[in-house]
Amino acid sequence: MSAVPTSWQAWLSDTLAARDRDGLRRQPVHLDSPQAVRVQRDGRWLDNFCSNDYLGLAAEPALQAALIDAVRRVGVGAGSASLVCGHHHEHAALAEALADWLGVETVLLFGNGYLANLGVLAGLAGRGDAIVQDRLNHASLIDGAIASGAKHLRYAHAEALAAEQRLMSLPENIHKRLLVSDGVFSMDGDIAPVAELVAVAERQQALLVLDEAHAFGVIGEAGRGSVSHAGLRDDAVALRIGTLGKAFGVYGAFAAGPKVLIDTLQQLARPAIYTTALPPALAAVTRVALTHVRDDHWRRANLQANIIQFRAGALAQGWDVMASDTAIQPLLIGDTARTNALSAALLARGFWVSSIRPPTVPNGSARLRVTLSSAHTPEAIARLLDALADLAMDYACVSSP
Ligand SMILES: *Cc1c(COP(=O)(O)O)cnc(C)c1O
Repeated sequence: MSAVPTSWQAWLSDTLAARDRDGLRRQPVHLDSPQAVRVQRDGRWLDNFCSNDYLGLAAEPALQAALIDAVRRVGVGAGSASLVCGHHHEHAALAEALADWLGVETVLLFGNGYLANLGVLAGLAGRGDAIVQDRLNHASLIDGAIASGAKHLRYAHAEALAAEQRLMSLPENIHKRLLVSDGVFSMDGDIAPVAELVAVAERQQALLVLDEAHAFGVIGEAGRGSVSHAGLRDDAVALRIGTLGKAFGVYGAFAAGPKVLIDTLQQLARPAIYTTALPPALAAVTRVALTHVRDDHWRRANLQANIIQFRAGALAQGWDVMASDTAIQPLLIGDTARTNALSAALLARGFWVSSIRPPTVPNGSARLRVTLSSAHTPEAIARLLDALADLAMDYACVSSP
């Protein structure tokens, strides 16, 4: 006898069967080695081209040592929510260092980027308010808007004028308006039109929120993201959200902005209130990671060189390389089954490149999402390009030979 009622069983098996039929069944595979550009999976070593560890910090020896040292000093768990008794000096020191790096008044830490986005959107907006966001924003921003109960409008990808039209279409009695965009889009790799969005937000009196998950550490002076990349002042965007799980190589997230906004989030962002604080040792090691993110210009220089090498090679082979100057370099394939087959063929040749399929991306736009790291060697990228050249013909994915 199963504890799952019969009334549920048909739905559960139908849901899984439909995923199998459409080639959309998702399942994690496990690593036997640290996260790095070479990883061991099921006993085999692979070149890894699907991680968001853009600066090669996830297994950085200096960070490993800093974490071990921090655990000895401050223990493992936080033991409580930050507003009860879980807020350690290490959390405060990290928040201060992040605020200093970004040139903002203050920072609120979150458990991860998903929670940060949920907390910011549902904390700042509610019934009677409006959230206007890019059609291709990350799932967590969509979920945050839905959870908020605010009126929710989406605009054509990266089109600031479309965003402005959406804002202008709102009833005049809606005063609290959020304009929300990814800084760098997670499945496309392109950069938001930040300067235009800033102008639209100002004209329409909307509060602009940028999700810098793939921008912090990767673009901008000292890795300060899309605002710096656009040549704007630090305070041009009201609120910026960053994850600590990507270029920082650790775990956690934060929202950065003026004190009045962050203090309000501390009162209203439920995912920051009703949850255990990050382990203080993680906060400590993240402060060390920040010094690498900020000061290791050589990591960003390597990453840029890798991006240029990969793009030039893939374009020369005729792949539909999406327009991106960032670490995310997707090859658009279209058909889901073909994308899965290409990913599997690359795996057989020793390369881990994920197939990104609906519903993560729109129907008919499945892609191989190649992500590059500063830690990839030119030889590893050349190996990947050789494998892609082999496959290009077999799978008829290229426009011209
Ligand atoms: C990964 C990601 C998040 C979520 O961050 P986590 O810390 O992994 O939860 C949020 N927004 C974007 C754009 C992302 O790519």
